[in-house]
Amino acid sequence: MRRSGLQPSARCLVKKEAIAFEAHEECSFGIRLKGERYGFWPSDFLGSSSVLFQAEDVVLYEYDGSVEKGRPDIVVFPTTTQEVSQIVKLTGKHNAPIVGRGAGTGLSGGALARTGGVMIVFARMNRILSLDPQNQRAVVQPGVVNFDLSLAAAPHGLYFAPDPSSQKSCTIGGNVAENAGGPHTLAYGVTTNHVTALELVLPDGEVVRVGSAQGDAPGYDLTGILVGSEGTLALVTEITVKLSRKPEAVETLLAIFDSVDDAAETVVDVTARAIIPAACEMLDGWTLRVVEDFVHAGFPRDSAAVLLLEVEGLAEAVAAQARAIREVSNAHHAREVRLARDNAERELLWKGRKNAFGALGRLAPSNYVLDGVIPRTKLPQTLRRIRQIGARYGFDICNIFHAGDGNLHPIVLYDPRDRGQFEHAMQASAEIIRYCVEVGGALTGEHGIGMEKSELMPLLFSDADFDLMRRVHDAFNPACLLNPGKIFPLSKGCGEIRTRSSAPSHSRPSAT
Ligand SMILES: Cc1cc2nc3c(=O)[nH]c(=O)nc-3n(C[C@H](O)[C@H](O)[C@H](O)COP(=O)(O)OP(=O)(O)OC[C@H]3O[C@@H](n4cnc5c(N)ncnc54)[C@H](O)[C@@H]3O)c2cc1C
Repeated sequence: MRRSGLQPSARCLVKKEAIAFEAHEECSFGIRLKGERYGFWPSDFLGSSSVLFQAEDVVLYEYDGSVEKGRPDIVVFPTTTQEVSQIVKLTGKHNAPIVGRGAGTGLSGGALARTGGVMIVFARMNRILSLDPQNQRAVVQPGVVNFDLSLAAAPHGLYFAPDPSSQKSCTIGGNVAENAGGPHTLAYGVTTNHVTALELVLPDGEVVRVGSAQGDAPGYDLTGILVGSEGTLALVTEITVKLSRKPEAVETLLAIFDSVDDAAETVVDVTARAIIPAACEMLDGWTLRVVEDFVHAGFPRDSAAVLLLEVEGLAEAVAAQARAIREVSNAHHAREVRLARDNAERELLWKGRKNAFGALGRLAPSNYVLDGVIPRTKLPQTLRRIRQIGARYGFDICNIFHAGDGNLHPIVLYDPRDRGQFEHAMQASAEIIRYCVEVGGALTGEHGIGMEKSELMPLLFSDADFDLMRRVHDAFNPACLLNPGKIFPLSKGCGEIRTRSSAPSHSRPSAT
């Protein structure tokens, strides 16, 4: 008997036409179809509304915010640590790869099922388990949306400091895995500076805890190792975070420039004078115009670049810092320096910044958001080089980035329907990232390596470096079932996947 619409992942079925529910079929990692059930059928303990396996459902999980793709065979939505552990034990028995997923906003392909397998989506583990204002701590499940924690903490005068521009949708589990940053990283540090303890499910299903709620835990800093490990060492099922106290005063400034170089020199000079703004973001003219059309935040359409700077702290210090920033900006020929008059104006300026990636959708069918780091002093020359690379390949490349940290996000606008354009976009992007490394920078500031940049890792690391990383990886994830094909170049990784061709996959790479 055939039942239309109930078609498990094509990859799992050897013979598609033989979908008979009495049949036994085995897929590459041993999932077995028997009647309406897989031998591995997690709905036995999850409930069928927590499992997706039909092609038209799982296809929605083959994307994240990157240009990569990788389709899972099964997608599951646990609600407790216990369920995560059960799923992991079950998949382990069948040697199936597992990948964790938060909101799928990642920009390096981290949450994609590169070799198929089971995707564990943490969206339903979204409870704030406790909030302790006196000790400035919260314990959350990994699927809590970043901004929701700050909203919950606000009545106590507290907030969660890591603020990626995606904070209204990304999850704290995803932030932990990527060691996410954001505009306010400059003053407050990245996610790792705000996480004190984790509960983890290891690849064999065992549940362990690392770190401690209040302070430094004795022994190795395993929390430090786990944060930023991109879901390759363990699944995070509970997170203890620090909450920060809202500052007494905040001033937001918009410095407007007729030249990108002047804006870049201002960033170098502001930080050289030991002024540490809480945030120092730059948007170039291309971006400004499209953002203004979208949010009507009052960005000047005819300028070459703006800096969005924020200073916060005690009222007197804030006023002095705002004055100093104005002076430095003027010294670098700022056309105007505006001070946000009230909270509404401040929020509008930030709305413009935080929605900029989305607004760029008006300019081209697709865009590729890069993430590289350079020493701040190299900002002017790097921005010039990005313009040259764009011109050589015939692309418009916009720049919206965390200038104070030297964390660049050039955005290559392209049409993915044109294969040639797509390949050139990838080549231009790789050139930009290589240049970042050449001037003393790094491959990523906050988006992670994932499957996007794994092949570029040898630009920074030697074989001995990789060996050490592999030993750490194998101590947690020896069978490489957890998020395979990420971080390590394929020749130095688990050896389970073939190297992709020069253009990133728009279809799933096959396992060897
Ligand atoms: C418009 C836009 C703006 C952005 N701005 C910023 C920014 O300013 N700063 C910044 O740092 N990033 C930014 N990002 C990137 C992205 O939002 C962050 O990397 C974020 O931390 C990803 O969270 P997520 O919940 O979407 O995770 P996903 O994309 O779902 O997953 C990311 C990684 O985390 C792993 N993972 C997820 N949950 C778990 C878990 N519970 N246990 C183990 N591993 C897990 C996945 O396997 C994957 O490797 C932006 C993205 C977009 C689309």
